[in-house]
This record gives sequence, structure tokens and C-alpha cells, in this order.
Amino acid sequence: MTTQQHTKPELSVVIPVYNEEAGLDALFERLYPALDALQTSYEVIFINDGSRDRSPDLLAAQYQRRADVMRVILFNGNYGQHMAILAGFEHARGDVVVTLDADLQNPPEEIGRLLDEVHAGHDYVGTIRRNRQDAWFRRKASKAMNNLREHITHIRMTDQGCMLRAYNRNIVDTINQCREINTFIPALAYTFSSNPTEIEVGHEERFAGESKYSLYSLIRLNFDLVTGFSVLPLQVFSLLGMLLAIGSAALFILLVVRRFVLGAEVQGVFTLFAITFFLMGMLLFGIGLLGEYVGRIYQQVRARPRYVVQALLQSGEGPRC
Ligand code: UDP
Ligand code: MG
Repeated sequence: MTTQQHTKPELSVVIPVYNEEAGLDALFERLYPALDALQTSYEVIFINDGSRDRSPDLLAAQYQRRADVMRVILFNGNYGQHMAILAGFEHARGDVVVTLDADLQNPPEEIGRLLDEVHAGHDYVGTIRRNRQDAWFRRKASKAMNNLREHITHIRMTDQGCMLRAYNRNIVDTINQCREINTFIPALAYTFSSNPTEIEVGHEERFAGESKYSLYSLIRLNFDLVTGFSVLPLQVFSLLGMLLAIGSAALFILLVVRRFVLGAEVQGVFTLFAITFFLMGMLLFGIGLLGEYVGRIYQQVRARPRYVVQALLQSGEGPRC
């Protein structure tokens, strides 16, 4: 440990990086002056989430220049943005931890405003993107998911997708105690927070490259959010099952009565098909939903390491493999 500042800074900035070679230099150029302007001790922790481009080289080169305020965690593969942030939390030493995307969609100049809220006594500061600069489809889908989440979990967030957020030491320590695999960090933090707040922040277009989330990975992430924080979907399904059972019992009685009153009837065979297929669809959906929960339980009970750190660049101990 070289300086006091390095041992325990006031602020840790955690940035996950996945194939961001095109924008990393621009990020360094904007991030460090913005942090220097805060007049507080800081460290920046970059987590390379198994990038297959030159991102790790760029991070290592930058580390040579700023070893006093920068640390790099190199994963051996791609474990996803939230696992990368978790690794950052586990290594962060600051009193306040701010997460930031590497693509400059979240302006680093806003970090000071988040810190002000933490100093005002909030243990968790969420953000809402002003004039969100994403594709129309992403904005609409995101709105729908925010809505759904609001109804089926206890998590209250206006804009769940924005990762520029601040967490105080208590929240970070509590999150570090969790061993969850498929998780959603802002929601987890909200669960533990006693005095959360939200502020509006600017949002910019991706500086370079493309979103690292495909439609499929976005759906998976939203499943993580819903299954990780609510069992309501399962409860709704069992309730639906009960209603259907009552409905079919009533129908059965009606048919028996008609059989005795009107005699044999062979009508409505196709209606019956339609109803059967509808019910089969519901059943498959129900089994799939159950599978989402069971699969997550399975992953959890195997208790494999959540991620593997291949190398750690940090001063004091030097590069370690
Ligand atoms: N990211 C990551 N691992 C992944 C996907 C994304 O570390 O598997 C990082 C990515 O490099 C970026 C942040 O997570 O710093 C947010 O990703 P992106 O900007 O692609 O998401 P979007 O803004 O489209 O939601
Ligand atoms: Mg982005």
C-alpha cells in the first residue's frame, strides 16, 4: 500500500467491461478528470468480463499509468454485467460505491450529485435517465418491464435499467454476504436499503460499439429480476389452476344434467378442441415458469464459484495470477 488514499478511499467506482475497446480511451479521458474534480479520494475498479477484443490490453495499459487509483479484475470468461459488478463490490474499499457503464451512456460528471445524496443520508441512490437515448423498441420494452416489476415485486424503482447508482458501505457489505447467482444488483440493494432515493441524470448515446444485450439476454435478465424478487407468478398460476378446476367441475355437472334432461349430444367437438389446446398451452407455460424457478434453485444448490478471477491488477500486492 503506497498511500493512505489507496488503502481506503472515500469513493469506489465500479465499471464492468465487455468488448468495449472502441470506447475505453474516451471513457478514461472523461472519467478521471471528472473524478479529480470531486476533490475526494477515489479508486476505479474495472472488471473485464471475458472480453474477446483488446479491452483487457487497454485496461492493463491504463493501469500502468494510474496504478495508484485504478484496479483491474480480469475474469476468465463472460459471467454477465451483474456478476462483474458483484466482483467489483467484493474488491471495493471505498465508503461509497458508484457503478457506471463503460460505454459513456451515463455521464461520469454526474457522480458528484450522487455523492451529495449519499452525504445527505441516503444509503442507496437510484437514477432516472433524462431523455433516454436508446432505440424505440428498447424504451418501450423497458417501460413495460418496469410496469410489470412494479406490480409483482416489492421493488420500487422508476428506471430499473440505469446502472449509474450509488451504494453506501452498509449496503455493499450486505450485498457481499449474499451468494445469489442470477441476481439484479439495483433490486438487491433496494431490498436492503432503509432510506433510498432517486435523482434524474443525463443519458447519452453509446459512445462506440453496440449494446451488449441481445433481446434474449434482456429477457433472461428480466426473468432474473422477477424470479429473484417475487414468487407471485407461481401463486397466480396456482390460483388460476384452482379457478380452472372449479370451472371444469361446474361444466361437468352441467353436462351430466343435460345428458339426463336432453339425452345424448355430440355437438361442440371443435370447441372442446379449442378449449383443450388453450389449456395445454397454459399448462406448458406453467411448467416453463416453474422450470425457471427450479433451474435457478439447481444452479444455486450446486454452489459453484460465481465467477473465476484470472488475474488482478492492483498496486501494493502487484499483479497476481
Ligand atoms: N457488460 C458486461 N457483461 C456483459 C454485458 C455487458 O460487463 O455480459 C457491460 C458493458 O460493457 C457495459 C455495461 O455492462 O459497460 C452495460 O452494457 P450495455 O451498454 O451493452 O447495456 P445497455 O446500455 O444496452 O443496457
Ligand atoms: Mg449502454
